[in-house]
Amino acid sequence: MSSKVKSILPGAAIGVLGSGQLGRMFAIAARQMGYRVHTFSSETDTPTGQVADVEIAASYDDIEAVRRFAQAVQVVTFEFENVPAACVEAAAAFVPVRPAGSLLHIAQNRLREKRFLARNGFPTTEFAAVREIGDLKAAVEKIGFPAIMKTASSGYDGKGQAKVVNLDDAVQAFHGCGGQEMIVEGFVDFELEFSMVMARGLDGQFVHWGAIQNRHKHHILDVSFAPARMSQAVGVRAIEISRALADKLDLIGVLCIEFFLTRSGEILVNELAPRPHNSGHLTIDASRTSQFEQQLRAVCGLPLGSTEFVGAAAMANLLGDLWQGGEPNWPAACALPDVKLHLYGKIEPRPGRKMGHLTALAATADSAAQLVLLARQNLQPVHLA
Ligand code: AMP
Repeated sequence: MSSKVKSILPGAAIGVLGSGQLGRMFAIAARQMGYRVHTFSSETDTPTGQVADVEIAASYDDIEAVRRFAQAVQVVTFEFENVPAACVEAAAAFVPVRPAGSLLHIAQNRLREKRFLARNGFPTTEFAAVREIGDLKAAVEKIGFPAIMKTASSGYDGKGQAKVVNLDDAVQAFHGCGGQEMIVEGFVDFELEFSMVMARGLDGQFVHWGAIQNRHKHHILDVSFAPARMSQAVGVRAIEISRALADKLDLIGVLCIEFFLTRSGEILVNELAPRPHNSGHLTIDASRTSQFEQQLRAVCGLPLGSTEFVGAAAMANLLGDLWQGGEPNWPAACALPDVKLHLYGKIEPRPGRKMGHLTALAATADSAAQLVLLARQNLQPVHLA
């Protein structure tokens, strides 16, 4: 570590913009290392607020409240990327915001993100912009069918997203999303999806956890496992792209890059998330340093920890749907000795809402995936006669 790097030491307060489960797991890691955590979002009794030292409930547009929040901490990071630029700027006037607002700005808009990737020679899906209905015909003609249409901003977990097979579908998708700016992407007939979760320190130190394979259900991440099932050559290429992208973005913190591996062996960048990612949750139980501890170390200017895995692992999300028949059978999941339960403290189990996850450790990624699915199956509520 270079002597020029000024570290933020244990005892200091870290500000987190956002208050969901990512902030909660970050706060747990930060408190374990003796830091204080202040969280800022519009809600109270949040997953992050329940474990933070200070929970501030104010609008992201309340610049005075953002200023007060920033003045009480030594560094600001975020767990939610749809924070308005003015909020980040207001915080950055007092303390460093890591990763920087410029990176957040790129990742907040799919068109900006794709243009940045294409301009800098990173492989990505074919895409075209649709600002207004008049752009649509030319955009879909350029991309061809089938295509995927996504809102340029504010989309997540498949929201604001549609597969379209003809112009009528495309018109319907555009209007269905309220006529806001959209991106049309070529539909990728992928072999598999994977992500690379990485961290980059204040002095440029770069670490990653290797490729983590992802399976989605209804566009929401369902199961992740590591190591991913891919050739060594593809893994090496993904690491090269990740390192180059982290350097190009001047990342300080954690970044997740979601990739497609096509049937012809090509790697395409799908999406960037400049924060810990759902696919990296398995690093809590399976790696010497979790993605959350790494985020803390990176934003505080500390040396990064080892990303070595203690074994193969798999993670399964627990969505609110699981509660439909009653309270899940927690003891049944806890009865499996190599399975760990994580719950986010959310009160209302709405369908599709991420309530928690399970991680299983095993000798291979396949057996870990089987075990985590068995554990989730065992959670199905027991119906009393
Ligand atoms: P995203 O919000 O971009 O991460 O998309 C959510 C999921 O939708 C991805 O993980 C894929 O499973 C699927 N998807 C998104 N874009 C494409 C695409 N261009 N081709 C095929 N599947 C896609």
